[in-house]
Amino acid sequence: MATSGDSKKRGNFTLSLVVPMYNEEEVCDLFFEKVIPVLKTITSDFEIVCVNDGSNDTTLDLLIAAHERDPRIKVINLSRNFGKDRALTAGLDYASGDATIPIDVDLQDPPELIPEMVDKWLEGYDMVVAVRRDRTSDSVVKRTSANLFYRFLKLLGESPITPNAGDFRLMDRRVMTALKKMPERSRFMKGLFSWLGFRQYEIYYSRAVRSGGSTKWSPLKLWNFALDGIFSFSTIPLRIWTYLGLALSVFAGIYILFIVTRTLIWGTDLPGYASLVVIMLFFSGMNMIGLGILGEYIGRIFTETKRRPHYLVRDAFGFDEDDRSVAPQHSKPARNRK
Ligand code: UDP
Ligand code: MG
Repeated sequence: MATSGDSKKRGNFTLSLVVPMYNEEEVCDLFFEKVIPVLKTITSDFEIVCVNDGSNDTTLDLLIAAHERDPRIKVINLSRNFGKDRALTAGLDYASGDATIPIDVDLQDPPELIPEMVDKWLEGYDMVVAVRRDRTSDSVVKRTSANLFYRFLKLLGESPITPNAGDFRLMDRRVMTALKKMPERSRFMKGLFSWLGFRQYEIYYSRAVRSGGSTKWSPLKLWNFALDGIFSFSTIPLRIWTYLGLALSVFAGIYILFIVTRTLIWGTDLPGYASLVVIMLFFSGMNMIGLGILGEYIGRIFTETKRRPHYLVRDAFGFDEDDRSVAPQHSKPARNRK
């Protein structure tokens, strides 16, 4: 069955790639070299939307040079480093294809998979997700922590997040339109993608190691990313706290009855410093954790209510104003050089 594929026979549609880049001078040109021949086999009408996420190396110069060589390479230059998820949001806002694929520049998302994704889309799927078969290209620490993270997310799970699937996926235009309706400031893209639903198909691949340069994720960034995933997509931590509080109160109630009865019958019992201190420390610890969890949510409410733009664009190269299917809601390019 080909629902969305009827009019889109091979070659008769536009395809957008969205590539966030942060200090990627080492791999930038190699990426174009690898990916353009693949795209050419699929359609003559493609665009590569590159987002320079505030790089402080020569990435932007390389991108502008590439755009001048081949106008199908388009460039969005953000005003500073906003982080991968926001850079991706910017690129997705500007992409105008019938189908859009976010992809990493370091060739860890194999471009050879793109034709297969497009085929599945033409068969009528709205989203084709590339899932990593294994994580052997990651360090043991990253592998274990990723596993734990996905298991925890699943436990909390309100919308099921496909484990080991990154941002590398093909999205139909209708998915893109839906995605643009999600205004939240916390851009945990994996979660947003999963929340969308639609007809999905999964294809499996082995992830290669980075083709050059180094990962932009420090352990601290990964930790914050994990927290974002948990607190932006689930209110279950709050509920767990309610139950924990309830259980502790029941326990405390029983203990109070016991202590009062014992005191009434046998009189006061002065020794007990140790147990008193232990109980006090335990409960103040619990209170602090509870406050911390509340704080996570309040902090998020705070950022959401400020309603700041997701990203700011300094320059955009290669976009017509009316070229875009849906204009970015939150920012406009400051200057539109061609
Ligand atoms: N990236 C970005 N902004 C950032 C960090 C990363 O645009 O602040 C881009 C980076 O250039 C790459 C992609 O996001 O294209 C994935 O980054 P990386 O390869 O460092 O992540 P990993 O593959 O290690 O998860
Ligand atoms: Mg990578």
